Amino acid sequence: MSIHENSDVRVPINSDSVSIQREDAKCILCGNCRSVCKYSQGVYGKYDLTETGDYAICIDCGQCANVCPTGAICEVKDYLELKKMIRNPEYTFIFETAPSVRVALGEEFGMEVGSFAEGQMVSALRKLGANYVLDTVAGADLTIMEEANELLERMENEENLPMFTSCCPAWVKFAEIFYPEILPNLSTCKSPILMEGALIKTYFAQQLNLDPTKIKHIAVTPCTAKKAEIKREERKNSVNEQPELLDVDFVITTRELASWIREEKIDFLSLEESKYDSLLGEATGAGLIFGSTGGVMEAAIRTAYFYVTGEKLEQIEFQNLRGFDGIKEAKVMLGDLELSVAVVTGTSNVHKFLELAKNGEKRYDFVEVMACMGGCIAGGGQPRIKDPMSMEEKEKRSAALYRKDKSLEKRCSYENSEIQQLYNTYLRKPGSPLAHKLLHTSYTSKKELLHKGVKVNN
Ligand code: SF4
Ligand code: SF4
Ligand code: SF4
Repeated sequence: MSIHENSDVRVPINSDSVSIQREDAKCILCGNCRSVCKYSQGVYGKYDLTETGDYAICIDCGQCANVCPTGAICEVKDYLELKKMIRNPEYTFIFETAPSVRVALGEEFGMEVGSFAEGQMVSALRKLGANYVLDTVAGADLTIMEEANELLERMENEENLPMFTSCCPAWVKFAEIFYPEILPNLSTCKSPILMEGALIKTYFAQQLNLDPTKIKHIAVTPCTAKKAEIKREERKNSVNEQPELLDVDFVITTRELASWIREEKIDFLSLEESKYDSLLGEATGAGLIFGSTGGVMEAAIRTAYFYVTGEKLEQIEFQNLRGFDGIKEAKVMLGDLELSVAVVTGTSNVHKFLELAKNGEKRYDFVEVMACMGGCIAGGGQPRIKDPMSMEEKEKRSAALYRKDKSLEKRCSYENSEIQQLYNTYLRKPGSPLAHKLLHTSYTSKKELLHKGVKVNN
């Protein structure tokens, strides 16, 4: 008999999940979680509990939490442990905040959907005990520098194409479970929070004379899957001589941050705006739009164009890669080089997309995949002002990121002066041996989960 009660009505959730949990007493058996997992995420229904040894297959995306009308499903509340330790003077607490958090956090405090609350958010984190607040957008710019370089290398060598993005851990896990044959096609780039994590305990610590063993690094993200991502084996390689050190110690979601701010009785709306700290605190428009579906692709094209031609792209916006269609396609000229790209959002669309690609109907060079419909602005840890999260909310958050991109002087990742300094003084160049050691990773097939119920590392 299955330990997962009512799994014909609702999604089964493993009790040892590090990303999501369910409070059974609150469940009204509405079935929303099952529908979203099946139809939007393409996970429920693609496995059989009798085959998996009663182990629920889950990519940690948290979309079930976003549609649960009673809040029975929510993220694992890691902020509670962090809250207990944050006043410990033995440690330096370094936060980073993902692009989408700043366009959603304000909703929790009554601001209009899509309000850009970056300054208040940074200020709130300082009040909560942060010693430094850095911007994940810097990590996103770095990801683009490495990923665009990797793409062009692969195109030159004609190997492992199309290249798929790898910054969404739910998509990575989805590929590891359902399509391990395409793992060589995934970019080896770590996600922005993991890149930044590796650098905080090496480069940043060296620059500020901090002991990496006394740093607690916290990523604030819209994402529940990041909670599982930081526990992957590959997380440990920034400070080799201390393999027990994590690159990222905690991931807390936008919702957790909002709860913490409320519990500390911080009046969010009247906070003075504060700025990020330097070294990894500068943002370009390219790194910011990572938060919306199509944003990673658009950011990568801006930099790949510069790598190929040595010139700045004149028409910098790619409207045909924006919007919420499940699969978008475009052809882009990088000088004389034609690039065929696709953007897929919602992992259920990956099943469809790979069928098309398998039939050889289309050829692609580069494919972005984001597990959540709409990208990270609709992540599983974002505010749930309406149940389920409406399309209008998603559009407003996304528009806020594109508006900010438009307003910035620097809109390409290679223009980020802190990232330039990082390469000049430390990493040397994209794809260098040190960049590979700190910023790249590998993947492992998890197909056996579908058949043997063998538990594998996140
Ligand atoms: S987190 Fe995602 S994959 Fe896991 S049960 Fe929920 S919707 Fe399904
Ligand atoms: S969405 Fe929430 S209330 Fe509805 S079945 Fe799932 S857990 Fe229960
Ligand atoms: S799309 Fe973004 S929020 Fe959703 S699982 Fe992927 S990284 Fe996390």
